[in-house]
Amino acid sequence: MKALKERIIRDGKCFEGGILKVDNFINHQMDPILMKSMAVEFVRRFAGSSINKILTIEASGIAPAIMVGYLLELPVVFAKKKPSTMENMLTTTVYSFTKDRTYDVCISKDYLHEGDKVLFIDDFLANGNAANGIIDLVDKAGAELVGMGFLIEKAFQHGGDELRSQGIHVESLAIIESLDGCKIKIRD
Ligand code: 5GP
Repeated sequence: MKALKERIIRDGKCFEGGILKVDNFINHQMDPILMKSMAVEFVRRFAGSSINKILTIEASGIAPAIMVGYLLELPVVFAKKKPSTMENMLTTTVYSFTKDRTYDVCISKDYLHEGDKVLFIDDFLANGNAANGIIDLVDKAGAELVGMGFLIEKAFQHGGDELRSQGIHVESLAIIESLDGCKIKIRD
């Protein structure tokens, strides 16, 4: 997606350890116009799929997910980071390489259950740990994962390869080939 790629080149900042900071328009300050354009692109790419629910994970997935939910007029559910006072919940453990720790995430069984056809939306796809946690929650709920959409995929961490090899429909709006030498290389 051209507008996102240009924005990453203009405002993205590269940090040690293969981290891309996009705090200027996605992760801290948010650009709602770009967010809407990205949601429109997800709607286009998943147009052939039957979806009844958008799923994301707090916090940075919520903004793009709600835009997609708004356009498709579907409910948006976000997996919450524990501790939570929630009862009747599904739980899984996710490793975060940006924070180098594991954390538990949960979703109430009231909001994810058998029969749901879920589109997962998140900001980044790196190693795929958050995505695998969501797959686990969807499985536990007996729901169906229709696809996964990411604003930015870091191809050099191979989470996307692994998800696609499982036959999952993965769409990423910008794919980063490398951040070597703190230079942002984006796939054409
Ligand atoms: P994964 O679970 O695929 O390894 O990493 C994805 C999660 O880690 C995303 O939900 C995102 O919050 C965070 N993340 C991974 N890489 C980056 C990055 O380069 N920049 C930022 N801002 N977040 C990242």
